[in-house]
Amino acid sequence: MQKQTAIIGAGIAGLSAAYWLEKKGHTVQVFEKNSQPGGAIITERQDGFLIDLGPNSTLETSEVLKNLVNDLGLAPQRVYANEASNKRYILKNGQLMAVPTSAGAFLKTKLFSFGAKLRLLKEPFIRPTAGDDISLADFVRHRLGQEFLDYAINPFVAGVYAGDPKTLSTAAGFPKLYALEKNYGSLIRGAIGGARERKKRKEVAKDRAKMFSFQNGMQTMTDTLAAKLKTPVLLDATITGLQKQDGKYQLTVEHAGQQHLYTFDSVILCTPTHVLAGLLKNIAPERVAPLADVTYPPVSVVFTGFNAADIGRELDGFGYLIPEKEKREILGSIWSSTIFPGRAPEGKVAFTTFVGGTRQPQNARLPEDELVKLALGELKSIVGINGEPVFVKVKRWERAIPQYKLGYKKIQAIFDELETEHPGLYFAGNYRRGISVGDSVLSAHETVERVEG
Ligand SMILES: Cc1cc2nc3c(=O)[nH]c(=O)nc-3n(C[C@H](O)[C@H](O)[C@H](O)COP(=O)(O)OP(=O)(O)OC[C@H]3O[C@@H](n4cnc5c(N)ncnc54)[C@H](O)[C@@H]3O)c2cc1C
Repeated sequence: MQKQTAIIGAGIAGLSAAYWLEKKGHTVQVFEKNSQPGGAIITERQDGFLIDLGPNSTLETSEVLKNLVNDLGLAPQRVYANEASNKRYILKNGQLMAVPTSAGAFLKTKLFSFGAKLRLLKEPFIRPTAGDDISLADFVRHRLGQEFLDYAINPFVAGVYAGDPKTLSTAAGFPKLYALEKNYGSLIRGAIGGARERKKRKEVAKDRAKMFSFQNGMQTMTDTLAAKLKTPVLLDATITGLQKQDGKYQLTVEHAGQQHLYTFDSVILCTPTHVLAGLLKNIAPERVAPLADVTYPPVSVVFTGFNAADIGRELDGFGYLIPEKEKREILGSIWSSTIFPGRAPEGKVAFTTFVGGTRQPQNARLPEDELVKLALGELKSIVGINGEPVFVKVKRWERAIPQYKLGYKKIQAIFDELETEHPGLYFAGNYRRGISVGDSVLSAHETVERVEG
């Protein structure tokens, strides 16, 4: 008899898990509380702009992701980021400075002082950090120095996690970086040795991996996954309860104003951790407190379109990130119409600006008119824009991205333990092995490999 599997949550993790499980011969039902699949992936088209309100792109870091895109028949629609977007800017003293990408550029850049550059060169001779976890800030300060932390890592972490290096765990949030030190005693020595190992594993380093999206935006991928499922995703269906009975799992589903009970052989939970905490309170009450406590800071995305003629500089890069030390009101802004084609109509340009995160959660929660005013003020002064926007769209993410804080390894271990203690119960998503789209897909893939039958 075919195994009946439920998947809770139709984000990229839940949808890709469903896709692979169906291929394994399971009967799969995905339940999604929203009225469209995709979770954090939302693309809209309005007034000639193509707007990604969640992730704007992802990195081709694994064969799993690459093969998934190919299997879905999406290769012809995939668009790689424009070469120009390899150039990234960091704001320093109010000026946008290009992040150096070669040894020569590094020696010349004004982004780091002479002392900071010398400090970086000492890295191979610095002893490894002690213990089995350390905050990213302490790790980077120890290995690379304060200035590198302030003007490289701090803005990078704001851009990726909307988070703070002082609270994030190096071991859980940046495992590859951490492993370089553990395995080679140095990041620089490790980078050389690591490149060899990645080649063996057919992986690509995140700083080398190609960035891609699709002609019609990121939602192409989740829409296609959902459309390929034999059993359609049940939308507007919120799972409110999960019970274990005789080795099977009973789900309580709120759908169309009614409550329904369904029984499955196995369940894959692909929702944020605070939802997991609620759903696990009958099965593993002793485990739920740390899951409920994981921080997901709010982020507001302010997408703006302008007449190209009003922009005071060439938009010759990916965009810019802002170090906390610069004391600005936004985290950074990406130059969406430079990165991918078709994001803005002819003669217009598009910016996607990120506000809030753990740095300034209050900014993300401002009333919409104040939020837009704040984002525009920063955008105009940093980039140099003369006119008013021709298009504005705001998306608020009240819980944007899970923060892998110090101690997060213990939370990751909870999922492994629960899967062992409760056969048929599985976990996948951005809370498990990395927060990116690519990591969420890998998490789903690893989970499906463990699912029996
Ligand atoms: C603003 C923003 C920008 C980002 N930018 C990037 C980027 O550029 N590149 C990148 O790689 N990553 C980026 N990320 C991260 C990445 O998009 C996410 O981590 C990833 O998409 C998460 O996928 P997921 O399937 O794990 O979770 P989600 O997409 O969060 O999906 C979980 C799903 O579960 C559903 N759900 C919740 N509770 C229930 C319930 N009780 N019953 C039924 N369904 C439920 C939710 O509605 C949701 O659809 C960004 C994230 C955000 C928010």
